[in-house]
Amino acid sequence: MYDTVQYRRKEVEIQRVDSIMRMLPAQAQQVLEAGCRDGYITLKLAEKYPAVTALDLSLPSIDHPRVVCVQGDITSLAFADKSFDLVICTEVLEHIPPNMLETACAELLRVTSRYLLIGVPYRQDLRVHATRCVHCNSINPTTGHVNSFDRERLMSLFGNRQFTKIEYPGRGVYKTNRLSYAVYERFGFPYGTYQQEEPCIHCGKRLVKPLLSLPARLACLFAKGLETIQNKTGPSKSPVWIHVLWDITVQDSLKCQ
Ligand SMILES: [Zn+2]
Repeated sequence: MYDTVQYRRKEVEIQRVDSIMRMLPAQAQQVLEAGCRDGYITLKLAEKYPAVTALDLSLPSIDHPRVVCVQGDITSLAFADKSFDLVICTEVLEHIPPNMLETACAELLRVTSRYLLIGVPYRQDLRVHATRCVHCNSINPTTGHVNSFDRERLMSLFGNRQFTKIEYPGRGVYKTNRLSYAVYERFGFPYGTYQQEEPCIHCGKRLVKPLLSLPARLACLFAKGLETIQNKTGPSKSPVWIHVLWDITVQDSLKCQ
């Protein structure tokens, strides 16, 4: 079972959350957190803002007088245009099917009247910690992340509008190489994120760690050794996330001139 409490204590996760808190605008009235999961950030938002709507694919259960829980899908939000003055969406867009990604971004922009804060993994190597589903035999990228972003891609998804703040929290993205990946692919991805909450993106069933023969385990151990050398001796450590805050009223006033 995936241990959320343990994960929140990791240094890199602390840096991610600190960055979000730093980037939040000083004032907002109606806040939407799109993709709130266990409500960890939602509760921090509720300390700062008077009204927070916490949305996720399955109805969240967050008990706080300032929080309203809503079941919903960011590719089709059931809110009127400009319903919120701050919309926050972190660790979500990397999970959206690529053909729905532009729609999701357009929806987030549609429901904010002013601020939009987005956070995604930065230039993630989607081959790292891939899994193979024992039910349908297909390969899953790590923790169901189907999209990788760099600054250009993220900006273009939001119309290349002027941003207010940008941060790159965390250091030391883990990478793999073609040889290691080929070995894992041949022998069954033993080091994948099988403990993840997300089911198989192809068949929807829970991922299960495969049982490997001794030769297969040895081959994968070799591939893992290569990866370790690559990551210990590689170039300077790149950021783990990219966070961007837009104030869309700034863009609007520029356009009017
Ligand atoms: Zn499957």
